[in-house]
Amino acid sequence: MPVEVLQDNKNKTAKLLELFTTVPVFRFKESWTDTKLDHIICWLYTNCLRRLPVLVRQWLSTVDSRVGATVDKITSHYVSPKLCEDELLYSKLQLDNVENLQVKVHSTARKVIAMYQMEETKLEISITLPPNYPLGRVKVECGQQIEDATKPKNDHMELSKFLTHQNGSVWDSLLMWKRELDKKFAAVEECYICFSIFHISTYHLPTLSCHTCRKKFHTRCLYKWFNTSQKSTCPICRNVF
Ligand SMILES: [Zn+2]
Ligand SMILES: [Zn+2]
Repeated sequence: MPVEVLQDNKNKTAKLLELFTTVPVFRFKESWTDTKLDHIICWLYTNCLRRLPVLVRQWLSTVDSRVGATVDKITSHYVSPKLCEDELLYSKLQLDNVENLQVKVHSTARKVIAMYQMEETKLEISITLPPNYPLGRVKVECGQQIEDATKPKNDHMELSKFLTHQNGSVWDSLLMWKRELDKKFAAVEECYICFSIFHISTYHLPTLSCHTCRKKFHTRCLYKWFNTSQKSTCPICRNVF
């Protein structure tokens, strides 16, 4: 990192922001100046934060506290504003035409508010990015339930975990929240093998049902069961499927 970055000098802010957020020229020359190399390194750091925030946070938790504090400061000053801006803008774009969902972005507060509406029920959730995003913790809060009939509990905890531990983006997590609500409202029965509504890799719903006990299963889960048990019986009632 350029030496100047380590000194928080206001006159250099614009230049430093540029180092972290603009794409450098990638043509390697032995005669490169330090500034060029600095540019590439800063840009790479920004992209590590963008793509692998969990890894960067893990690494930060192992470094000396002075290094940690410096990296945190650099990130808040020169990287987080751009990452927050992009994340909020992208969330708005991705979620603009999603059914049952309305999204508002408050850029200065680094906040996204999503409102889910299904018939008479409205649920609100807000996600606030920290000033040192994505190093700090994202705040997820359930807003006011205007007319609350079927408030799903702890959904915001799940979102918080997703954003903290899985390199999750804001729009991904809001979409996940929306899907969870959709399936709760649709009252779809979960698969009796994996106990999920959506299959973990295909995202399909459980559509195969047993003729005897009527329990439902994902196609993949059921065929896996048939293969491992070497029978074609229902995993619940044991009758031939
Ligand atoms: Zn399943
Ligand atoms: Zn059965």
